Amino acid sequence: MVIAECKQEVATFAAAASTYADFVIRRGAELLDYHVSAQEEVGGALEVFGDREQCVLAPTYSAKAIASGGLLAAPDFSRIASEFLESLADADEVDGAYFSLHGAMAAEGEDDPEGFLLSESRKILGDDVPIVVSLDLHAILTNRMLECSDAIVAYHTYPHVDFRQTGARAAKLLLAVLSGTARPITARVRIPMLARGDELITKTGTFGQVIREAEEFERLPAGLSAGVIIGNPFTDVPDLRSNSFAVANGDPQLAVGQAIRLARQIWARRHGMQAKLTGLDEAVALAAETAGTAVLMDAADATSSGASGDGNSVIHAAEQAGFPGRLLAPMVDAPAVEQAFAAGVGGTVRTTLGGSLDRLRFRPLPVEGRVKLLSDGRFRSESFHSECHAGPTAVLESGRRVFVVTSRAVNLYDRALFLAHGQDPRAFDLVVVKSPHCEPHMYQQWCSFLVSVDAPGATSANLRTLGHAKCPRPIFPLDETPDELPISVEIYGRDRSKRERTGL
Ligand SMILES: [Zn+2]
Repeated sequence: MVIAECKQEVATFAAAASTYADFVIRRGAELLDYHVSAQEEVGGALEVFGDREQCVLAPTYSAKAIASGGLLAAPDFSRIASEFLESLADADEVDGAYFSLHGAMAAEGEDDPEGFLLSESRKILGDDVPIVVSLDLHAILTNRMLECSDAIVAYHTYPHVDFRQTGARAAKLLLAVLSGTARPITARVRIPMLARGDELITKTGTFGQVIREAEEFERLPAGLSAGVIIGNPFTDVPDLRSNSFAVANGDPQLAVGQAIRLARQIWARRHGMQAKLTGLDEAVALAAETAGTAVLMDAADATSSGASGDGNSVIHAAEQAGFPGRLLAPMVDAPAVEQAFAAGVGGTVRTTLGGSLDRLRFRPLPVEGRVKLLSDGRFRSESFHSECHAGPTAVLESGRRVFVVTSRAVNLYDRALFLAHGQDPRAFDLVVVKSPHCEPHMYQQWCSFLVSVDAPGATSANLRTLGHAKCPRPIFPLDETPDELPISVEIYGRDRSKRERTGL
């Protein structure tokens, strides 16, 4: 059983390109060692495979991005693809393959990297080896991905928490195909829609109602997999859209019916699935009036979505408004960190913060500050206890403002960066959080005021500001769209029984 992984979420609107150096590469046994304890898809699959004595595991290759980022440079994708495919070609006696993919990669000259990996893998493995793929909820689902795999499974949660469960579902499905008990037929409906906002939160939002129906389908005897994949609005490629899909055991009608039901439900809810944003100046003014901690969510510079993390719009706005309280913000700014290291703890630096990467969107902010703390930027995430590598990191204090300045982008959907650097958000009047959402206990349940701000950035939920040029049009909410979803269903299946009969 081959296990391979390739995961990165790309924001094509981000200023800086991603490179090979932005990935952690693991090969062979290293891949297994990491995933035994990591809360990720491969770990869930390993648990299922581990229960079967006859299952011989062949872990091949994993390229996992440290964080989301800009368009992957062509030579760097080419290197990752070659390594991925060579390790697959080297694997012995492959009877099945499980690939853990993200689905929202994009590279220079390749709009569909996962589709490329799957079609090349199919050439290597041949038509008779089943390939099951797990995908992120934000995947860009392409024809090629569906044609070259046997079946897909996708996360059912946003914010994502069901990594291991998704991997386990993929592994069970692959074993069922191998044993001959499952013959996956996939139906897919393209939904011309980009979604953002709180209604996507599966625990509380309207999106969750649709996902629960997909889960019901998966409990049917012939229901193998189902879901709605919303695409990543920041990956502007020709296949960007939402999709519903259902995989049924040998029953195309069942799959088609379910995929259509899911598509209609999500389409009917589309107007609610947009972010509610507050203007920057208004948000800062409201924060100034608030007693206690105000949290301004700057998802336009969300590093977990692929933005550069060097956005400083909220800080500019706070300065302009003469915000009187204590302010805490994360910032990616490698040159400023270098200066801080040169000055040493207790030293003073005169530098600028922000706009070091995305020069078009952000104006560097002059700052004079004291170096409070220096670190190697390694810490564990609060959400999943996974390793974070922010590179050399400095805490700068400038009057009532404290900046945690990292050399590179890390996920900021929890408080780990702040807490690991001695900064408790509760001690501040205004906290900048560069993420669309955080778990409620992290901020929402205790702060006095929390809004999502309408700031510039490569991952702004104000989708019309981004300038989509490649995605198919018309698409909601960028264009006028009909009330009734025009339905066309595609059906995919790899009928092995036929090949056996004809001896192919
Ligand atoms: Zn995602």
